[in-house]
Parts: sequence; C-alpha cells; structure tokens
Amino acid sequence: MKREHLIKPVLDHHYPTIQYGKGVFLYDDQDKAYIDASSGAVTAGIGHGVQEIIDAMLEQAGKVSFVYRSQFTSEPAEKLAKKLSDLAPGNDYWAFFVNSGSEATETAMKIAIQHWQEKGRQGKNKVISRRMSYHGITMGALSMSGHVLRRRRFIPLLEDFPVVVPPYCYRCPLNKTYPECKLACADDLETAIKRIGAEHIAAFIAEPIIGAAGGAIVPPEGYYKRIKEICERNEILFIADEVMTGIARTGAMFGMEHYGVEPDLIALGKGMSAGYTPMAATLTKDHVMEPILQGSKSIMSGHTYSANPQSAAVSLAVLAYIEKHQLVREAEIKGSYLLGKMRQMADQIEIIGDVRGQGLLLAMEFVSDRTDKLPFPSGLGVTSRIVEKAFQKGLLVYPAAGAVDGVGDAIILAPPFVITEEEIDQLVRILDESIREVM
Ligand code: PLP
Repeated sequence: MKREHLIKPVLDHHYPTIQYGKGVFLYDDQDKAYIDASSGAVTAGIGHGVQEIIDAMLEQAGKVSFVYRSQFTSEPAEKLAKKLSDLAPGNDYWAFFVNSGSEATETAMKIAIQHWQEKGRQGKNKVISRRMSYHGITMGALSMSGHVLRRRRFIPLLEDFPVVVPPYCYRCPLNKTYPECKLACADDLETAIKRIGAEHIAAFIAEPIIGAAGGAIVPPEGYYKRIKEICERNEILFIADEVMTGIARTGAMFGMEHYGVEPDLIALGKGMSAGYTPMAATLTKDHVMEPILQGSKSIMSGHTYSANPQSAAVSLAVLAYIEKHQLVREAEIKGSYLLGKMRQMADQIEIIGDVRGQGLLLAMEFVSDRTDKLPFPSGLGVTSRIVEKAFQKGLLVYPAAGAVDGVGDAIILAPPFVITEEEIDQLVRILDESIREVM
C-alpha cells in the first residue's frame, strides 16, 4: 500500500477524491455523481458551488483576509453580529465568533460560568445536559455531550455533566406516553437541579432537535416552554445548541422559533457559512452580558481566527442568499415533501420503525421488529450498511448514533434547501433500493 500522510476518519477505508460540487451534487475524480442528501455533516445548506458566495470570498480576500481581534475589528464581523441579532429570537444578542460548533458550545459554557462569577456567584459552574446529545468534540463540549461512542475513550478526563433524560417519545426513557406523561422528561431537569443544587449550576444546554446522537428527535409539544420556565425559576441559563438546527435547516431561521422560547445563549456553526469557510458563533443575550459589561469587560476565551473577516464575509453572503431565495420557506416546503415520501417508504419497508424531523432535518430509525421496536443488535451495523450501500449508489446520508444507551439505529436526511422535487424523488428511489438490498 502507498505511504499516506493524511489522517482520515477510518484509516483503512478508501475515500474517493472529490473534484467539484454544484447544487446538491458532488462529483469525484472518476466523474461519479453523489446526491448530497446530508449536506455533508448537515452543513452545506445552500448547496455547492454558489457563485454569489465565491464572489463575496474574492471581494473580501481582495481587501483583507485576516486581522487579529485583539488589534482590530472589521466591517464584515460587525455587520454579521448585527445581522444575527436581528434574526435571532428576541433580537438582543451579542455575538462571539469562533470556528467550529464545538468552540461555540464550549464558549457558551464559559460565558455562562463567567456571567455568574461576575455576579459573585462563584459556585455556579456546572452545566446540565441530556443523555442523548452531542455538543462537540473538544473536552469541554464533550463533557456536556451524552454521545456514548464519542465520549467513551475519554471518560476519565471529562466532567460528568449529562444527567437529564431526552424527550425521545419513540422510546420514552421513562416508559411513558405523551400527553399522559405530562412532560415528565422536562420535569427530570427540575429533579436534577434539586439533586445537584441550583447554586452549583450555571446552565442547561440542549439541541432544539436532537441531531447526531439520535437522529432528528423532535420534542413533544410544550417541552421547551417547561424547560425555560424551570431554568428561570432556578436561575439557570438556557443554552440552545443550534449548531445543527440553526440557519434555516428546520424551516425556521432558528430551531427554537418552533417552540416560542428565547434562549439566553445560542451556539451556531455548520449552516452559518454553509461549508464555504469555517465559521461559528456564540450568541449571548443582553442580560447575560450585563454583569460582564459592568465587571471585567472581557470574555475569557477566544481563538486566533475568531471573528475572521474572510469567514464573516462568507457568512453574510450565505445569509443574504438564504433571504434572497426564501430558503427558510423552501426548507419547510421541501421538508414536508421529503417527509411524505419517507412515510410512504415506511409503509412498505418493515425495518423502518420511525420517521421524524422538522423542515429539512429528517431521520428514519431502523428496528428489527416493529411491534416491540427492537433495535438491531449490532450497534451501528445496519446503519453503516445502509449508509455504505447508498454511498456506492451515489447517495450521501448521515449516520446517527447506533444502538447504544437505549438509542436506536437511525440515518439523517438533510439535503441542501435548494433541492428540487425531482432530486428528492431520485434520492428516495436510491434510498429505497439501498435499504431493501441490506435487509
Ligand atoms: N453541536 C451540535 C448540535 C452538532 O451537531 C455538532 C456537530 O455535529 C457540534 C455541536 C460540533 O460542531 P463541530 O463539529 O463544528 O465542532
């Protein structure tokens, strides 16, 4: 075997080389086309090769690509912070720019802790999260994550934050049924707060719709209203991790809009720059910033590339493109078209146990027996075989966590918002074939 130098996710796996992308398609160096039905890792929301973004990149590169945030600010970064605040629920946010979703959630955790410190509440430094969750791969973000496979190797080094059950109605962790359950999963937060003590807790973090750790799990009606009410009553900040759900993905600019709740902090990433450059942000409400503005006047975090003008210009162009082409609405329309097709598939294919999601963040969960919802015994086995089969046939889908910790096998479907109905039909045809061939 030829000596290699690039560390790829699986070292003995062959990865085709991509030559270019256009719209929802990627093309490799053998001229094979792939429908990008997962937008990579739920990232390329506006599709590949969009000329307006390339133009914006070139224009900014012609001015300046990098300034260090301790020395200068830049017009794109200032404009982007204002734009995100205008779009976010409540419209009163500050933005701290970082480079990845993990940095965005970890910064949110640090800002929440600092907020309480500057109010003289030194003991409030834990973050509660849910058992089925993914907030990132760096140690702080992983500490908050309940993604068993990703945290397993580092458990001795992690803070043991996740304690609350997820709102996973298909396999209720409390063995209850909605609405008779009266949102017991949300009340689990209250129980955890009582056990740990509100005086030790800075924040609660949750993904509006659970992504990688379960596959497009939508909470029951009223869940987030209850969560926010519990947080407020106990003086705990609510961090919405919108890294996957943010920026049009769910048929709303922010996932939390579906639930009528204004988070105290919001983590953004992925779709913010739609894959054109690394860009992410922690949005922080005025009232969270207040004690810091009155106190130390500096957030104790940051990265060399924070607030990078090149990435900010790209992100502004992505937001402009989304607005110009009404892609929030497109995500909703195309999402319900795709969801309808997925439901038809579930009627015919026995191993599809559940079909769910919102907008263009959709998933199907596989079961070996539909009646008792028995997950496949082989962990990620069935999911990886479906993902692999689809890949061979030129369709990209995203695997969610496997059958560990009470989580079923699921795949996420999250194509770019610009996908057409004909392309959705093509996607569904290939997926149908792929699932049947591995059954
Ligand atoms: N938060 C959520 C909800 C995510 O889905 C992800 C990535 O999948 C992250 C955080 C981490 O983002 P990144 O991979 O950009 O560090």
